Amino acid sequence: MEMKIGSHVGNKAPEYLLGSVKEMLSYKANAMMVYTGAPQNTKRVDIDKLMIAEATSLLSENGLSWNDVIVHAPYIINLGNVHSDSIYQLGIDFLTKEIERTKVIGAKVIVLHPGSSVQATSEQGIERIVSGLNQILHEDEGVYIALETMAGKGSEVGRTLEEIRAIIDGVTHNQWLKVCLDTCHLHDAGFDVGDFDAFLDEFDAIIGLERIACIHVNDSKNVCGAHKDRHENIGYGHIGFEKLNAIVHNPRLEQVIKILETPYMGENAPYAYEIENFRNQEFKDFKGEEC
Ligand code: FE
Ligand code: FE
Ligand code: ZN
Repeated sequence: MEMKIGSHVGNKAPEYLLGSVKEMLSYKANAMMVYTGAPQNTKRVDIDKLMIAEATSLLSENGLSWNDVIVHAPYIINLGNVHSDSIYQLGIDFLTKEIERTKVIGAKVIVLHPGSSVQATSEQGIERIVSGLNQILHEDEGVYIALETMAGKGSEVGRTLEEIRAIIDGVTHNQWLKVCLDTCHLHDAGFDVGDFDAFLDEFDAIIGLERIACIHVNDSKNVCGAHKDRHENIGYGHIGFEKLNAIVHNPRLEQVIKILETPYMGENAPYAYEIENFRNQEFKDFKGEEC
């Protein structure tokens, strides 16, 4: 099977999802991740403006489908907020609508940052997240929520595999829960991603490999365990090309969609270069600087 790899792409006027697919194709990618609107806010245009039919045609002309597309929920959703009922309720209501939009679009997976307990304990955060997910997920949901592994910045929940496991255990219809690994977040959380088979063994024992829905492939601007969450271009950070290349080509992750969320270089997206380097399994400098 050919590796499924792409990046996050835009979704904005005038072409919306049709523009997203065009952007993906411009990087020679065969997968992508989109937000249903701006990631930082809850403003969303009518779903019928998103050019879903046109995007579907262009995907299928290229041998692709919505199974190759991951949706990401906006950052403002925080189901872990222990202190503010209004922020918590907004998260539940908005995520419910985001799942509806994901269904209409035709994608099967929406990535969610589990949440931040905002200075409360991680147990309190987890309890809040579990109760939120239990209000959202139904027996016949039809869309998977992929909980993203987090760097552990502030009081972010999801920095350990045990925390993710605790959320899964608390959710009644947890057949609809998956996991999104993020290499930058794992590294910043203190995992050694250089021996990814050892990591996958641990993941399998605690959560189960079948739960992995996608991997965010990012280098990191910081050292292992820094709890910072600042993404770097592939081959220019503290993880480095070799380790990340071994992850994307790990045979145990063959079925898993890989998504780049690395920073732009000024006005230019790095994704075509990064994807090409991974396909060639060789690091070619695309910035013209020492790394
Ligand atoms: Fe994310
Ligand atoms: Fe990520
Ligand atoms: Zn991140």
